[in-house]
Amino acid sequence: MTQALNHFPPSAADAHRRLQAFVPKAGRTYAGRRNFDFGPGAHDCVSTLSPYLRLRLLDEVSVTRAVLAQHSAAQADKFLSEVFWRTYWKGWMEQRPGVWLQYLNDLNRLKDDVQTQSGLRARWEQACLGKTGITAFDAWAKELVETGYMHNHARMWFASIWLFTLELPWQLGADFFLRHLLDGDAAVNTLSWRWVAGIQTKGKTYLARPDNIAKFTNGRFKDLRGLATYAPALDAPEPPAPVDLPKCGPKPLGARYGLLIHGDDVDTGPLLAEAPAPQAAAYADATAGHSPWQMAPHVGAFRMAAAQDRLATLPNSPSTTPALESAQAIAQWAARHDLDQVIAPYAPVGPMADMLRSYQTLPDAPPLYLIRRPLDTAAWPLARKGFFPFRKNIPDLIARFVHDDAQAQSWDQLALDFEA
Ligand SMILES: Cc1cc2nc3c(=O)[nH]c(=O)nc-3n(C[C@H](O)[C@H](O)[C@H](O)COP(=O)(O)OP(=O)(O)OC[C@H]3O[C@@H](n4cnc5c(N)ncnc54)[C@H](O)[C@@H]3O)c2cc1C
Repeated sequence: MTQALNHFPPSAADAHRRLQAFVPKAGRTYAGRRNFDFGPGAHDCVSTLSPYLRLRLLDEVSVTRAVLAQHSAAQADKFLSEVFWRTYWKGWMEQRPGVWLQYLNDLNRLKDDVQTQSGLRARWEQACLGKTGITAFDAWAKELVETGYMHNHARMWFASIWLFTLELPWQLGADFFLRHLLDGDAAVNTLSWRWVAGIQTKGKTYLARPDNIAKFTNGRFKDLRGLATYAPALDAPEPPAPVDLPKCGPKPLGARYGLLIHGDDVDTGPLLAEAPAPQAAAYADATAGHSPWQMAPHVGAFRMAAAQDRLATLPNSPSTTPALESAQAIAQWAARHDLDQVIAPYAPVGPMADMLRSYQTLPDAPPLYLIRRPLDTAAWPLARKGFFPFRKNIPDLIARFVHDDAQAQSWDQLALDFEA
C-alpha cells in the first residue's frame, strides 16, 4: 500500500506538481514515445496523471489549459485526444448505465464459477498473482498490485493475453484491474476491456504480439513464446439504446447545508463556488461496491487521503473525518449537523451514484443537490457513437470550456445543474 501512495502522493498539490512537470513533454515527446513502457518507476513519456484525473483533483479543463499554455493544439493533439478519450468513455457509459449493471451481474455469476470450478480458479489465481510463466504478463500483474498503476500499452497487452492466451473471462480481468488500479474507473475500465475483447467496437479485437511487446518495452521482454496468434471477437448482447443524462433544475440554497465530496470527485472548488458557507463537510466512499471481492487497500486509502487533503482546506472542517460508507451514514451525518440540504458533486455511473440514489429514497433525509461540471454536461451527450465522431467536437469543447473563462469558471451556471 505504501508503495502505491509513494508513487502517487494523494494531494492536490502533488497532482498540480506532476502536471507542471509533465507539460513540457505533452507535445512531441508524448506523441513519439507514449507507447513505450519503460517499466515501474520509469513511465517518463506519459503523464501518470490518471489517478488524479480519476478523483478530479485535476480535471480535463485544467489539464488542457496547462498544456495549451506551452504547446499549440496541433503539437498537443495526441495528448489531448487521450485526455478526451476519458471524457468520451464517461459520456458513453453515462448514457448506457445498463452496461455497468450487466458487468456486475456477470461478475457475481463468475464469482460462483471461480468458487465451484477448480480449473478456472487455478488459472484465475495464477493470472492475478503473476504466476503464469509469461514473463511480461507476470511483471505487469506485479507492478499493478504493488504500485496501483499500469502503462496504457501494457494494459492493452495484458488484457489481450488474459482473454486470448489464458482464455479467461474479460470481466474477471476488468475486476482485477478495478481492485488494484488507483485510476480504476467503472466506465473507462469496463469499456476498455470490452474494446480489447471486440465487443465495444464490434468485431475489432486487440492482439498482443511478441515483436510489438519487445519493441515497446525497449527489449525488456524479448522472445515471448506461446502467445495467442488469433483474437476472435467475443459475443455479447447489443448495448441498450442511449438514455438522456439525468435532468437538472435550479434550486435555491437552504439555510443550513453540508458539502459531501465522494470517491468519484473530491474537488471542493465547484461546491464552494456555489455554496461558500457550509455548516459541515464530509467524504462518502463506495469503493467496496466496485467488486464482489475485496478491493486492494491502497485504492480506498488513496481516495480517503485525497479527500482529507481537500476537506482540510475548508473552514471549520474537522481534521479527521471517517468516510461515510452507506446512504444511512450520510443521512445520520446530515441529521447530526441539522442540515436542510446536502450538496455534492455529480457521481457518474458506478457504486457512488447508486449510494446517492439510495440516499435520495430515505424518508427523512434532507434533499441532495448534485453539481455537474459544465464540460461534462456539454460533452457527455456527444458520446453517442464511436470516438471518431466524438473527436470532431474537441476543438469546439476546448474553445468553449478551456479558452472561454466565463463558460468554464462561471460556477453560477452550475447552479442550473442541481439535480431536480
Ligand atoms: C484494459 C484497459 C483498462 C483501462 N482501465 C482504465 C481505468 O480504469 N481508468 C483509467 O483512467 N484509464 C483506464 N485505461 C486507459 C489508460 O490505460 C489509462 O488512462 C492511462 O494508461 C493512464 O496513464 P497516464 O495518466 O500516464 O496516461 P496518459 O497517456 O498520460 O494520458 C493522459 C490522460 O488521458 C486519459 N487517457 C489516456 N489514455 C486513455 C484511454 N485509452 N482511455 C481513456 N482515457 C485515457 C487518462 O485520464 C490519462 O491520465 C484502461 C485501458 C485499457 C486498455
